[in-house]
Amino acid sequence: MNIILTTLNARYTHSAIGLRYIYANLKDLQSDTQILEFSINDAIQTVAEKLLAHNPDVIGIGTYIWNATHVAELLHILKKVSPETLLILGGPEVTYTPFRANFDDADFIVQGEGEVSFYELCKDVQNQETPKEKILPMTTPNLKELTLPYDFYTDEDIKNRYIYVEVSRGCPFECEFCLSSMDEKVRAFDLDAVMESFEKLWDRGARNFKFVDRTFNLNMKTANRILDFFLEKEDTYFAHFEVIPDHFPDSIKTKMKQFPHGALQLEVGIQTLNLEIANNVSRQLKLDKIKKNILFLENETDAHMHLDLIVGLPGETLESFGENLDTLVSWATCEIQIGILKKLSGTYINRHDETYGMVYSDIPPYDILKSKQLSFNDIQTMKRFARFWDLTYNSGNFKKSVHLIWQEKSVYESFYNFCMWMYGQTDSTWKISLQRLGELLFHYLKDVKNLNAQEIADSMLEDMMKLKGRAIPHYLKVYSQNFTQNAKNGTSGFNKRQI
Ligand code: SF4
Repeated sequence: MNIILTTLNARYTHSAIGLRYIYANLKDLQSDTQILEFSINDAIQTVAEKLLAHNPDVIGIGTYIWNATHVAELLHILKKVSPETLLILGGPEVTYTPFRANFDDADFIVQGEGEVSFYELCKDVQNQETPKEKILPMTTPNLKELTLPYDFYTDEDIKNRYIYVEVSRGCPFECEFCLSSMDEKVRAFDLDAVMESFEKLWDRGARNFKFVDRTFNLNMKTANRILDFFLEKEDTYFAHFEVIPDHFPDSIKTKMKQFPHGALQLEVGIQTLNLEIANNVSRQLKLDKIKKNILFLENETDAHMHLDLIVGLPGETLESFGENLDTLVSWATCEIQIGILKKLSGTYINRHDETYGMVYSDIPPYDILKSKQLSFNDIQTMKRFARFWDLTYNSGNFKKSVHLIWQEKSVYESFYNFCMWMYGQTDSTWKISLQRLGELLFHYLKDVKNLNAQEIADSMLEDMMKLKGRAIPHYLKVYSQNFTQNAKNGTSGFNKRQI
């Protein structure tokens, strides 16, 4: 039986750990199976053509929020062209009902973790004993009995892609907007076996490790062992962890301080700092600990951190979101990712629909469209806010000058005004070149905020000329005398060749 495992990743640099888990656990069917990965930027008909070129009997497709509509189209084409090929879906997007995209063309849907059930289904098919039900309900494999997938990252993957790894599955918390809140408990892999696999990956040249564990800093014994694994290495590497902000015992802190600059990336889920809103969505919020830990990470480590905030949680107003943002900017200088609330199938966020008038799109990524507190226009504006925030604050291109937008006032309010002005100029948030963005920022600060042009230019030159080979932007040339002189004198920290 000829089996293909496939998915469409969000980017070429991503790799699907899920497919490799399925493959690793296919036992006697493994020799008849291959993994073919694509990205959502590939033409769907070409993907179908490439899959069918292998004459598969079975195609297993990994389905996620970012590829749900692409998968629906792929199913449609595959079924039309090759009705005899058995199409089996799995992945988070089909784990809970209702399914939001049209997956009618799938022959089977494997819910939950598929390592055991996909194999059993394929064996049934092979033995011509196919199940009567189209949807195979969730099973929970014993993680300690699963074959680990890491040998199935190819040398090409190791060279060009992020290597996704995990030491546990599940989350003990119950934040209602999150798919992981549906997990019953945290389950751990055999740590010795996992560490052995990581060592093998390292020996094969892997240096980009992305941990998909939902709460890396929950189990101290495990977290310490993983941090030690990296701290013992001398080569440069990059390790990414998702962490909860209120749990950094001293043993972890001591180790985190030892990581060299750029080696450690921490995704810190804040989501809201408003106790009432956190309570609405059953999210724990230990504000004192969160503040202490963020300040620690900011001031005492070289970790690259980014903090996540959500717009649109039940009951949250723009003002309350603004207070969250103001607070985070006062604590840390790192990236702050602003996300729009999504309604994921299976989560309990839907219990607020009536009380808070929550209306969501049924099309991936299922963003909130409006609530009692936020109009459609508010949400649209906040999507633009998030995009302009990414372009200016998070990009790091205007590290110093972006602060001129708010100076002493509320970051949120000032940036909101900037965002409204920007959109008035661009009528879009896309395809804005860095040159144009800088020019617009300069004009906003000079002509709308009435700040001193020379001071703005000094700031922007310091920001923008950090990158070697960049020419002085034309709109700053007239103000660049000081900067040029300082560079010539070697007092600006810039190489003379840059000017
Ligand atoms: S948001 Fe984070 S802490 Fe909350 S349930 Fe999801 S993974 Fe767990």
